Amino acid sequence: MRKLFTSITLAAAVLAGCSENHQKNLQKLEGFIQQDTSMIHNLRVICKEYPARLSGSRENAGAQEYIYNEFNKIGAEASLMEVPVPNWYGGESKVVVKYGREAVEVPSVNLGLAEGTGGKVIEERVVEITSRKELDEKDVKGKIVFFNDPMKSHSDYGRAGWQRRQGPGLAAEKGAKGVVIRSLTQFMDEHPHTGSTTYSPNAPKIPAIAISTIEAEKLSKTIAENRRVKLAISSTAYTRPEQATGNNVIGEIKGSLHPENVIMVTAHLDSWHIAEGAHDDGSGVVILMNILRAFNEAGIQPYNTIRVMPYQDEEVGLQGIHTYAEKKEGSGENHLYHIEIDSGIGNPRGVGLYGDSTKIASLNTFISQYVDLGYDTPFIVRAGETYTRFPTATKFGAIAGWFIPDNSTDYFLYHHASNDNFEVLDQQQLKDCSQAMTQLVYLLDRYHK
Ligand SMILES: [Zn+2]
Repeated sequence: MRKLFTSITLAAAVLAGCSENHQKNLQKLEGFIQQDTSMIHNLRVICKEYPARLSGSRENAGAQEYIYNEFNKIGAEASLMEVPVPNWYGGESKVVVKYGREAVEVPSVNLGLAEGTGGKVIEERVVEITSRKELDEKDVKGKIVFFNDPMKSHSDYGRAGWQRRQGPGLAAEKGAKGVVIRSLTQFMDEHPHTGSTTYSPNAPKIPAIAISTIEAEKLSKTIAENRRVKLAISSTAYTRPEQATGNNVIGEIKGSLHPENVIMVTAHLDSWHIAEGAHDDGSGVVILMNILRAFNEAGIQPYNTIRVMPYQDEEVGLQGIHTYAEKKEGSGENHLYHIEIDSGIGNPRGVGLYGDSTKIASLNTFISQYVDLGYDTPFIVRAGETYTRFPTATKFGAIAGWFIPDNSTDYFLYHHASNDNFEVLDQQQLKDCSQAMTQLVYLLDRYHK
């Protein structure tokens, strides 16, 4: 459990020698964040007025404008950065299980970037596939593939993800006419969970639809008991031919000593077409906004530039973050840190760090300061991991960080599902995560005097 106020004295002791009163500043930030109501208000607006914020959508554009105006109100420097984004329409899906005289429709959702059927129904025999090996071995030509390789735990997401990410492309290469997948969550629930998929360049883009884990279990049982189960599927999803654009929204406070040094924190602005996107990633966006607000309210001037950026198109293609890195090349700025918030809300744990090991080793004193603030497993140093999420690290040598909330027991109840809404988010946990991130940014900033 995180400790409060009392432990700050330790951090202050480590920083002793500076004339500034760090204990007081950290307390001011905490005091503001714990009493503030604007962050909760912002999250409510983003979730309720701009739900289903797929990049390129009207809702996404509305949220951009709202956040841009809020940055101005806070007194931060606000700017927009145009980004080319996918122009995908999520549409509606329908999955009907047919056997004997039964025809049962089950709740479903299109996978991200999936092509639909133009509303036409495809009805074919279904083949259940529970592993990559089984897909290689079975004949699926002309059939609908039902991927049913259960995700067993929170950390099994990466492994089980193959069926959603590569499944439709692989099945199409083998001549399948459509794909239905078991939702990626370790929980048995009635919500279909979406997420992006990919196709093979050598095969048609067949429809790809998720059903809930409960319905997947039922379907598997039905297939085991009936030799001739068919699925009738249809979908209105498609990618519009014209290029769409969106904007990364940048808010910053210039550094008083080193304006060229950038401490950047990001979260993605887009959300799935079926969700308000409270955990994923509205919460991250409002935490970013609150970092700037807290510094200003507490009257703390950063030494280095603090830049926050709600960015475009994380869910489908990471365009927003890559466009940022391309546009910042040759800017003369020195990106010190890039910390991402995209794991939902829970009790705050800390930050995982990625980057050059010598650079990370040089952070030892700073790390102990953050530990002293009471985050119980605050740093997971995983130097040398891949940087696909952080072109700022590969191009500019920034140390990358990932904010880690303690929510492995419930995150996948809401992940990419229609119940990821404002009401399911614990407001005290949101405040505690905001405090953890803001104090982290403060300590990093003061570390580079
Ligand atoms: Zn996300």
